[in-house]
Amino acid sequence: MNKIAFIGAGNMARAIIIGLVNSGVAPQNIMVANPSASKRLNLAQEFGVLQTEDNNKASEFAEVVVLCVKPHLITEVCRQISQAISISGKLFISVAAGTTVAQIQVALSKNSKDNLPPVVRVMPNTPCQLGLGMSGLFASNEVSVEHKAIAEQLMTAVGKIIWLATEDKINDIIAVAGSAPAYFFLFMEAMEKQAQHLGFSSQESRMLVQQTALGAAQMVAHSDEAISTLRANVTSKGGTTHAAIEQFKQDGMEEMVKNAMAAAIARAEEMA
Ligand code: NAP
Repeated sequence: MNKIAFIGAGNMARAIIIGLVNSGVAPQNIMVANPSASKRLNLAQEFGVLQTEDNNKASEFAEVVVLCVKPHLITEVCRQISQAISISGKLFISVAAGTTVAQIQVALSKNSKDNLPPVVRVMPNTPCQLGLGMSGLFASNEVSVEHKAIAEQLMTAVGKIIWLATEDKINDIIAVAGSAPAYFFLFMEAMEKQAQHLGFSSQESRMLVQQTALGAAQMVAHSDEAISTLRANVTSKGGTTHAAIEQFKQDGMEEMVKNAMAAAIARAEEMA
């Protein structure tokens, strides 16, 4: 594996770093840069990765630079790196929502005559920290087959990936996967609350919901059947599940999901 720098040590960097280390990447091949100390020091202490407050030092160390700062900081961070060090031969991977490959390439180029650097945009989600992430990847024209393999190796260490043919599909990935763990949390939260209203203790409620969600997800993962078939298989007409499902339908569950995903896409477009 190549040397990897993470610029920003927040939630997403942490998720990917945990996944990488757990998948066997040597921690001394990973350097994380962050202005404030606590997050990078925690990562260094917990996983043995190298750490610095200096983005340029981390970028110089690595062949692969993973940009994990908030979207509004990405171009400034890229500009600072490209002014300070030679970026030739480095692959840049950005996980930022709403900052395009072209914006990153311009920020990384000292002047307009420079060759554009290879940039892969990745839209991951937080289950990466368990190796259960789902990421969409888009590569700029400058990304070689070797670079694509590196990006793929990095992100498959922390979950499953799909390559996107066009960059605008990144926003769709945000709606379907990037933001989506929170949709499931919301649903589980609502169920947990109702379990408590029914008189189960908070510990019992958590276990009931958690184990049921895990079981359902595993059934989907281990079956070739369509999800709709799995649902139909456990929904006998006139039974209890049927009663609950009919209520969900009457209350417009499908419309709610459609609207929520459309809202995520609209917000991603606004942020671009
Ligand atoms: P976060 O937890 O706020 O992490 C951002 C980190 O960047 C912070 O640790 C911050 O440090 C650091 N930082 C600030 N200024 C910096 C600078 N100039 N140089 C280097 N590091 C700097 O945010 P996040 O949730 O990880 O999100 C990071 C990126 O991942 C975003 O672009 C987001 O769009 C993308 N993303 C996130 C998710 C998700 O589920 N979280 C999913 C997909 C994509 P301080 O705390 O010291 O300011």
